[in-house]
Amino acid sequence: MKRRLGLAVAALALAVGLFLLFGRGWVAQRAFDRAIDKTVGIDQSAALPDGLHAYVCGSGSPMPDASRAGPCIAVLAGKQAFVFDAGSGSIRKLGRMGFPMPKLQAAFLTHLHSDHIDGLGELMLQAWIAGARTAPLPIHGPAGTEQVVSGFNQAYTIDSTYRVAHHGPGVAHPAGFGGAASIITLPDGVDSQTVYDSGGVRITVIRVNHAPIAPAFGYRIDYKGRAIAISGDTVYAPDFVAASRGVDLMFHEALSKTMVSALGRKLAERGQTANAQIMHDIQNYHASPEDAARAAREAGARALVLYHLVPAPPAKLIEPLFLGDAPRQFPGTLKLAQDGMIVSLPAGGKAINFSSAF
Ligand SMILES: [Zn+2]
Ligand SMILES: [Zn+2]
Repeated sequence: MKRRLGLAVAALALAVGLFLLFGRGWVAQRAFDRAIDKTVGIDQSAALPDGLHAYVCGSGSPMPDASRAGPCIAVLAGKQAFVFDAGSGSIRKLGRMGFPMPKLQAAFLTHLHSDHIDGLGELMLQAWIAGARTAPLPIHGPAGTEQVVSGFNQAYTIDSTYRVAHHGPGVAHPAGFGGAASIITLPDGVDSQTVYDSGGVRITVIRVNHAPIAPAFGYRIDYKGRAIAISGDTVYAPDFVAASRGVDLMFHEALSKTMVSALGRKLAERGQTANAQIMHDIQNYHASPEDAARAAREAGARALVLYHLVPAPPAKLIEPLFLGDAPRQFPGTLKLAQDGMIVSLPAGGKAINFSSAF
C-alpha cells in the first residue's frame, strides 16, 4: 500500500516536472493561438449595429498622462468612418480599439494646436497601409492645414519609399500615400455649414471660440436620426450650442480652473515662473466642466462626455473636484472620457450605449 502511494506521488511529481519543463510553452502557445484567432484580421466593428459609434482614441490634453492619448474622437457612421483630431498616441489606441481603418473617409481638424495634430503622420500612414488607400487621405481643417499636411507628407516621404520598395505597390499603393489638405472657410457671419454630405452622413463645421486661436472649429455628425457634437477647444460658445441642438451625445472639452490654479500656485511657489504663467494663460480659452454642462443642457443633448481633460483627474477619488458643480447643472448622462471608450447610438432608436475596448 505504502509502495503504491509512493509510486503515485513519484508519477505525479514526474508529471508536474514534465509540465514545468515543457507544458508552460504549450500553454503559452495555446493562449497565443486563441488570442490571434479571436482578433487578428477580424473587423470588430462588423458586430456593431447600424448607427453612429464614437471611439474615444484620445481623452487627454497636452499634459503628460500615461493612460490618455492626446485629443482624438473617431466616428463610425454606417459603413463610413471619420477621425476628428489626432493627438499624440491616439492612432495606436484606435488600432487597439478595432477601428475599421479601411472605412476611413476623411480626417477633420478642429484647429492647429500641436496637441491636436501631432498624431497626424501616424494617421496618414495607418490610413494608407492598414486602410489600403489608393488616394491620399482627405484632411479637412482651418487655413494653415495645407502647411501642416505638406510638412507631414514631406517628413514621411522617405518612409513611404521604404514601404513601397519592401512590400510592393500591391500592398503599399504609391498613390495612396499621405494626406490631401482641404481648407474649410466659414465666411464672416456664418457660424456653421455642411462640409460633408454623402451616403446619409452629414458633417457640419461649427465656429467655436478658442481666441486668440482663430479659426477654431467644432463638428456635428448626423446619421439616420442620431447625432454627435464635438466641441474641439473652446470656451462656452453660443454658436456651438445652437448648432448642436438636439444631439444625442456631446463631447465637450473641459478644464478645471480650481485644479489648474492650484498647479499654477505650486509651480510659482517652486520658482517655475514660466510654467506657472502657462497655467494662468490657458484658463481663458478653455471651458470649465460647468461651462460644458451649460452648453450640453442648453443644446438639449442627452449625454455629455467631457474630454481634453485639463488636468485629467489621476484617480476616481479626485473626479468630484474636477467636475465641480457640473453634475448638478446637466440633467442627462455625464461622464469623463477614457481612452478606449466606445459610445454607440444604434439607428432607429434612442439608446446610448457605453462600453470600453480595453
Ligand atoms: Zn487648443
Ligand atoms: Zn488642445
